Amino acid sequence: MLYLVSTPIGNLEDMTYRGVRVLKEADFIACEDTRTSGILLKHYGIERPLLSFHSHSGVAKIDKILEALTEGKTCALISDAGTPGISDPAYALVKAAIAANVTVCPIPGASAVLSALVCSGAHTHDFRFLGFLPIKKGRKTLFDSLKTKDYTVVVYESVHRIEKTVSEIGETFGAEHKIVIARELTKKFEEFLRGTAAECLTELKTRPRKGEFVVVF
Ligand code: SAM
Repeated sequence: MLYLVSTPIGNLEDMTYRGVRVLKEADFIACEDTRTSGILLKHYGIERPLLSFHSHSGVAKIDKILEALTEGKTCALISDAGTPGISDPAYALVKAAIAANVTVCPIPGASAVLSALVCSGAHTHDFRFLGFLPIKKGRKTLFDSLKTKDYTVVVYESVHRIEKTVSEIGETFGAEHKIVIARELTKKFEEFLRGTAAECLTELKTRPRKGEFVVVF
């Protein structure tokens, strides 16, 4: 059994009871960064063997996990934060596990995309999640392709590119285009910046240059 266990995106209280139990019962836990996950696991008194599984883990690591799974072992996969499989390396393992007839079981919980979307005030019945935007190539084409769409778009952004992204949303859709920036969700300095692209860009410049961001437009 491969469990995809959601973990908090900032606030340790957002871990579920079931998630803790599954982690405590797993034969081993696969995680992106053993130091990052170590903090969470220590907090909940979870002491299981850890195996690192990150974006640079090759096929050999997937094979190693699959071998254990097909022997009947239970693996709980967690990411650095949130729901494994959303903008992190889980996909390749999930795909391989399904192909090997391993049961994949979700343990739902926190995810930045849904937390931002539901509090954004944008319509939620039709939305498109794009994860991280391409850094260079394909960026403009992607923005242009959205011009004719009326669904809500949700993207993840890092502190390094948040201003560039908001500025490009303004250039593509107009400086008056409404956007919402969800910053530091579930953490002490959580905030939602709501306004036009131009207003949000100005506001962003008044904030400390740190944090994690989700942009909804
Ligand atoms: N698997 C995670 C999830 O379910 O949301 C996402 C992992 S992705 C590598 C990390 C990105 O998610 C960050 O760069 C940021 O855009 C977004 N993110 C994660 N935690 C966040 C938070 N507390 N507040 C705002 N955005 C967050």
